[in-house]
Amino acid sequence: MSIPIFQSSTFEYTGQDSYHDLRYIRLNNTPNHVALHDKLAALENGEAAVVNGSGMAAISTTLLTLLSSGDHFLAQDCLYGGTHGLITKDLPAYGISYDFICGDDPDSWKSLLRSNTKALYVESITNPLMQVADLKAVVEFSREHGLCSIIDNTFTSPINFRPLELGFDLSLHSCSKYLNGHSDIVAGAVVGRTELITKITHKLNHLGGTLDPHTCFLLHRGMKTLAVRVRHQNSSALEIARFLEGRPEVEMVHYPGLASHPQHQRAQELFDGFGGMLGFELKGGFEAAQRFIQNTTIPICAPSLGGVESLITRPVTTSHACLSPQECKEVGISESLIRVSVGLEASADLVADFEQALRALVSKIGP
Ligand code: PLP
Repeated sequence: MSIPIFQSSTFEYTGQDSYHDLRYIRLNNTPNHVALHDKLAALENGEAAVVNGSGMAAISTTLLTLLSSGDHFLAQDCLYGGTHGLITKDLPAYGISYDFICGDDPDSWKSLLRSNTKALYVESITNPLMQVADLKAVVEFSREHGLCSIIDNTFTSPINFRPLELGFDLSLHSCSKYLNGHSDIVAGAVVGRTELITKITHKLNHLGGTLDPHTCFLLHRGMKTLAVRVRHQNSSALEIARFLEGRPEVEMVHYPGLASHPQHQRAQELFDGFGGMLGFELKGGFEAAQRFIQNTTIPICAPSLGGVESLITRPVTTSHACLSPQECKEVGISESLIRVSVGLEASADLVADFEQALRALVSKIGP
């Protein structure tokens, strides 16, 4: 029932012709890797998959496989901070240029195309503002202009969305989040056609961002409960988002499951659930946000997301700390934005905790 951990870095040579076929942990082909690849590909209805040492290893290896010096690509303007940093700070040093696009405005994309544009990169639900780009238009535009369409599907997870079915070329994950679900490993994955995954695996073999067999085992185990965890988180997050939206202390809630979310209809068409991540702003701004986080007793104040314990954070200090205040302002991430990763606690307990945290805020501010 459980695949054993094959804790061997190297395996007997049995006549393989290619370096990439020798069995060795860094070549990502030990029995633990192979079992995980099959499972990840099946989860997203892809032909093939490869796991990586982290979500960032999956993202950087994929982009460095598809893009070379002199190439240009398009990326959604609001992305996970690490991805934003890779695009704006690291890739230009390799001669790879980019333009940011507004995910909601397909008509504006064409003017940014160049003869050397090779790829288009988006997130399924963006970190941390929970925007949902026009993903159908991303696929159509990419096909029309010969671009490789890449999506970071971390926030939706394969339970809520399977991008390859919509026509994306590659779906990426930080498996550190929902796929593993227990906040005890970092890992990444890329899923897509065999031809692309083979190229990415060869690049990964050289860059070295491999996943060790013990972590493969933990990820494999975590994935067994993915569907039940995500379904619980979908319903809890929706309940909490609705509760927050109805409170007078709350200025705005970012959750694609709310009818008030600007891309709610699109999310409803594309996804089977709206996920366990939500963001919100309080009327008292930055100070209220800090105090609210201190007042809560269930969510742990920590970066990361997608685990069984609820986590709460201000993205400007964690996931988006590598963006300058100006960059945050440009994409709409305020210093008072609170992001919650809803865990598996009883939703009634979380709502009660948020309610007492809000009440304590008001009693301190005064009427
Ligand atoms: N993609 C998204 C949407 C993320 O939120 C994160 C991390 O928070 C990553 C990728 C990077 O993942 P990892 O920390 O596993 O490298």
